[in-house]
Amino acid sequence: MIDEASSRADVRTYEVRTYGCQMNVHDSERLSGLLEDAGFTRAAPGDSPDLVVFNTCAVRENADNKLYGNLSHLRPVKDEHPDMQIAVGGCLAQKDRDTVVKKAPWVDVVFGTHNIGNLPALLERARHNRRAEVEILESLDAFPSTLPARRESAYAGWVSISVGCNNTCTFCIVPALRGKEVDRRPGDILSEVQALVDEGVLEVTLLGQNVNSYGRSFADPDQPRDRGAFASLLRACGDIDGLERVRFTSPHPAEFTDDVIEAMAQTPNVCPQLHMPLQSGSDRVLRAMRRSYRKDRFLGIIERVRAAMPHAAITTDIIVGFPGETEEDFQQTLDVVEKARFTSAFTFQYSKRPGTPAAEMDGQLPKAVVQERYERLIALQERITLEENRKLVGSEVELLVAAGEGRKNSATARMSGRARDGRLVHFRPEGNIDTAVRPGDVITIVVSEAAPHHLVADTPILTHRRTGAGDRFEQGRLPRTPPIGVGLGLPKIGAPEPLPTQMGCNA
Ligand code: SF4
Repeated sequence: MIDEASSRADVRTYEVRTYGCQMNVHDSERLSGLLEDAGFTRAAPGDSPDLVVFNTCAVRENADNKLYGNLSHLRPVKDEHPDMQIAVGGCLAQKDRDTVVKKAPWVDVVFGTHNIGNLPALLERARHNRRAEVEILESLDAFPSTLPARRESAYAGWVSISVGCNNTCTFCIVPALRGKEVDRRPGDILSEVQALVDEGVLEVTLLGQNVNSYGRSFADPDQPRDRGAFASLLRACGDIDGLERVRFTSPHPAEFTDDVIEAMAQTPNVCPQLHMPLQSGSDRVLRAMRRSYRKDRFLGIIERVRAAMPHAAITTDIIVGFPGETEEDFQQTLDVVEKARFTSAFTFQYSKRPGTPAAEMDGQLPKAVVQERYERLIALQERITLEENRKLVGSEVELLVAAGEGRKNSATARMSGRARDGRLVHFRPEGNIDTAVRPGDVITIVVSEAAPHHLVADTPILTHRRTGAGDRFEQGRLPRTPPIGVGLGLPKIGAPEPLPTQMGCNA
């Protein structure tokens, strides 16, 4: 008989370190699910794990230096514990391939963006053969959603609707590393949403590099593209009982159509929030970026969204200092920012991303010029954000209470939540409530103060709804979703597939 101590000793622990975008964060949930199915357990904070997986990002100029620095730190640990394994996956692994083991020969496994499902087998093979295993595929062999997932949140979940991208923005490495767009079957997506709701999740975010081209590539070649597929998907999510909030990221201005605006406005659980990446307000720079919309189209979308949803919060991404950007081009960006009145903006100083066409372009700007423009943009956006946030003082908001979103909460005795439009609101968990407020619960409260990056509601809580997500959070139970989907065969388009469970329904 195996006693408890020896069986504990057999359990191997893991840690996944994630860098980069939401796509990677979600892939890491899949990696965790896979590893737990393979018998690993998550290492407790502060413990030294038996397996460290790096899920890497390649978009920053110094991403590789950071990775190899982190790997060097692990070398002495591995020398002391030869059974420890190290795996490197994600975009940088897809790009660097066997260079990873040449530079860091103590790494056991290198895997790419197309084969995360093979990680347990590669680890086993590396252990058995006592040598590094490098496996990079050129295209997706199975949708990541066909793998189990260990979710990170009791109340909100990511659901991939597509992977890859068919655009060729000159600053972006995604098409080279994630491949062509492949869309997931609507029925599989809705099954996964339902599975999350069955586990108590209240909010889902549909995830794709370019959600508006959804419907492009699951049709068989003889069938026309289903241009209404994304709007249909949003409406189908509206039929899922218990699903309170639907968000999506990222849309693309070139392909964003009015039927999506209508679906957003007419589907009550779709949140009044839109993240619409501008990148530049200059048509000349947009052309150089190979972004196929122009400033006027972008502003037209904003106008139509506001007409249909006057209270929608619209956020954006902007790159400052793209090669060849003149002061006049930059003024165009400031002009669009002034007119669009974004709720907030993710602003980036352009930096060369190895492997992208823009990295080779003439007209790379001196750092001081980029920095000075960046500071002007930030000042403008912060003024607009504060002005827009001030309009909400005195209004009632519904918050899905969040865990870990307020850095100063322990000092200020506040908790935090997200309003339906995505704004972050800090509040004091006291007032008209009978039992403690927990992450995952839903409250309503009146906003009392505005700041550039958040709102404050130091007012009594008006209503407090205890939810199944809150119960699960309290019990420390996180959702697990099973493998969903049947690989990449030709699916049907149009109406969602029947569901196996009860039916509801840095682009
Ligand atoms: S920026 Fe977005 S749309 Fe452009 S290539 Fe990259 S992923 Fe595709």
